[in-house]
Amino acid sequence: MRTKARTWTAWLLLAVFIPIAVTTAWLWRGQVKRQNDQAFTAQAASIGASVTTAVRRMDDLTLAARTLLGSRPEMTDAEFNRWYHSMGVDQRFAGVAGFSYVELVREQREGVYPAGDRPYYCLPKLGVAGPGMSETLSEITVPGLDLCQLTKLLGETRDSGEFSAFVVTSSHGHEMFEVIAPVYDGGGVPGSVDARRADATGWIIGLFDAEPILASAVSRQGGVAVSLEREHAAVPEYRVPTGAGAAFRTLSETMHTASVARVGSVPRGDRMTQRISVEADGRWTVSITGAEPTGIGDPEVQATLVLVIWLTLGLLAFFLMQVLAHGRARALKMVDEKTGQLRHQALHDALTGLPNRALIMDRTEQMLLHARRHATTDVSAMFIDLDGFKGVNDTFGHPVGDELLCVVANRIKNVLRETDTIGRLGGDEFVVLVEGGAVKIAERIVGVLQEPFDLGTGTPVTITASIGIATGHREAAKDLLRDADIALYEAKGAGRNRYAEFRHEMHIAAHERLELGSDLRCALAREELFLVYQPIIDFETGEMPAAEALLRWQHPTRGLIPPMEFIALAEETGVIVDIGAWVLETACEQAAQWAEAGRPIRISVNVSARQLDDPGLVTTVHHALHRSGLEPDLLSLEITETALMRDAEAAAAILRELRASGVRLAIDDFGTGYSSLAYLQQFPVNALKIDRTFISTCDTHDPLIATLVQLGRSLGLVTIAEGVEEESQLERLRELGCDRGQGYLFAPPLEVAALERFMAEHTPAFA
Ligand code: C2E
Ligand code: MG
Ligand code: MG
Repeated sequence: MRTKARTWTAWLLLAVFIPIAVTTAWLWRGQVKRQNDQAFTAQAASIGASVTTAVRRMDDLTLAARTLLGSRPEMTDAEFNRWYHSMGVDQRFAGVAGFSYVELVREQREGVYPAGDRPYYCLPKLGVAGPGMSETLSEITVPGLDLCQLTKLLGETRDSGEFSAFVVTSSHGHEMFEVIAPVYDGGGVPGSVDARRADATGWIIGLFDAEPILASAVSRQGGVAVSLEREHAAVPEYRVPTGAGAAFRTLSETMHTASVARVGSVPRGDRMTQRISVEADGRWTVSITGAEPTGIGDPEVQATLVLVIWLTLGLLAFFLMQVLAHGRARALKMVDEKTGQLRHQALHDALTGLPNRALIMDRTEQMLLHARRHATTDVSAMFIDLDGFKGVNDTFGHPVGDELLCVVANRIKNVLRETDTIGRLGGDEFVVLVEGGAVKIAERIVGVLQEPFDLGTGTPVTITASIGIATGHREAAKDLLRDADIALYEAKGAGRNRYAEFRHEMHIAAHERLELGSDLRCALAREELFLVYQPIIDFETGEMPAAEALLRWQHPTRGLIPPMEFIALAEETGVIVDIGAWVLETACEQAAQWAEAGRPIRISVNVSARQLDDPGLVTTVHHALHRSGLEPDLLSLEITETALMRDAEAAAAILRELRASGVRLAIDDFGTGYSSLAYLQQFPVNALKIDRTFISTCDTHDPLIATLVQLGRSLGLVTIAEGVEEESQLERLRELGCDRGQGYLFAPPLEVAALERFMAEHTPAFA
């Protein structure tokens, strides 16, 4: 959204920049043009001033000559030359080509061109030339030529009394101003035409070279052209007199006239022109032409530059915005992705990718809310715990355990519906949330998890699952999950590989369990625990070579509690380590007493999985033997097959250590723990106690019992049958070659006194 806005802003920026660029360029162009014009105007003014000064000097000099000749018309050529030089003309005035004096002659003369009888003749009389100009001067002052026959100009100036001027081009290509001033007797100008005609004595003709005059005005100013123009110049009209001599013809060719003289050149292209009027003996116009500045000074170039700079800036800003927008978008996208990943990590289990505890809590809350809204109570949470998962982990290692968890997760997922949720709380605990049909799903989960898992370990791994189901409304998610957990405990207690639905009584049971746990912690100190002993009978001799010590708890309010009801609790809380040590000591003490009394019987003591994990077990055993003084051979430790199979290698190591101290070892509840022959061979045990469940079915000729007995015998172990209740069972066991047995058929677990009576009564009976 924000990226889009930024992109739009970038385009808007560009849209604003373009008109700004164009306007600025246009204004800039105008400004530069104005500046150029001003500069040119200033330049033209200075040139104009120079030309004006030169023209005025030209006039002044002509005026001075006229005044001189007006007062001294008889002046000789030499005098005229002296005057010219005494004025310092060559040094002070640029461009003076020379002066000539044309005399107005009123009488007939010989050798006049053209010949003829006229009232007056206009004949060149005096002449003075500037440096290098004598030839040019001589071109227009051909002696004897009646100039008034050539043009009316002289006559007109005489009548008007005013100067006349025009431009001629000399045969050398020089543009020359010819200023003609009438000369009257006395030097002044008479007031009337008649007086002027009467008093006229001649004309001064000043010849000025336009080149140096204009050149000095434009000196050091390149690219400028100046022209000087005589306004309303009476372009003299020349008539070529017939029969005129060569000199005359030369003159007529020379006198092709113009009114303008030019200096300087202006390059092609745009030009600027300024015209300045100069008032002297008449009106002159100076025209100054300059080229519009080119290159960087050209307004168009500058405007283009400004336009380019603005557009570049605009484009840069545009691209910057785009880059920023997209860069920011990229960054935001990355942040989004990372946040998503983190959120996912925070709410999901890293191993299976399933929702974790936090997310499951949330989903449970949602489910309860949804149920409340739709007035339904058919919402359930299931706690699933794998039975014997720790064994898989310990036996095959954690990678296999992890793999198993993933496969389990997939199998569970496959039996769920789209709307159901599965999560993992940690370890081997999964949670499933379903809206309706929880029991069916639980059955299916139990079913699919019973199937063996092929995890590439060589042998397929078998595990089972216990499931606790809690259904219906609860105040909060945690309540529903707690109830599912309680139901799970029930399922485990009821033998695992099954599901249990939460009932309110379970809550009480769970509560009681808590209470019981704290009571158990004090039971030892309060001396509420005691041992009973169950005889183990030798099938061959009928004697009682051994007895199993079994724990009892005399609870102050609940009465006698059997071990099945508190051993698991003691294991959970860890109290079993202390209780186990007490059992060992008490049993050893008792056995030592019997041995001392001359009736040595081997005492069997149960060791739980938790005790097996305790690094102090071997020391505890040594300690018990040492304190009681019992022969190690008279002590037999019973360890369940399941406890051994959790971590067979470690168990084997501890068993070797115990065996080394001389005590005997028996595998308890044999047949329930899936141990393989390979492992059995590793364990340095002396006896196998075949689990009661096999004995109870042995009279129906279950082939399994035969296999188990056979297995024990083939390994050279003593086989002991547990829970022998019937004669038929005893018979069958004897047939099969089972060595010993215990059970209600012989005796239940007995208190010390009762056992001692049993010893006395029954020993000979089996002799
Ligand atoms: P277990 O070691 O397999 O003990 C045999 C159990 O079978 C005893 O139950 C015994 O009373 C019972 N039993 C014996 N003959 C018969 C019979 O003919 N029929 C039937 N139905 N049952 C018979 P108990 O004493 O309730 O002990 C249960 C389990 O508690 C024991 O199984 C043992 O695993 C555990 N246990 C007992 N005492 C201790 C102890 O001091 N420490 C530890 N760690 N576990 C103990
Ligand atoms: Mg036992
Ligand atoms: Mg047993």
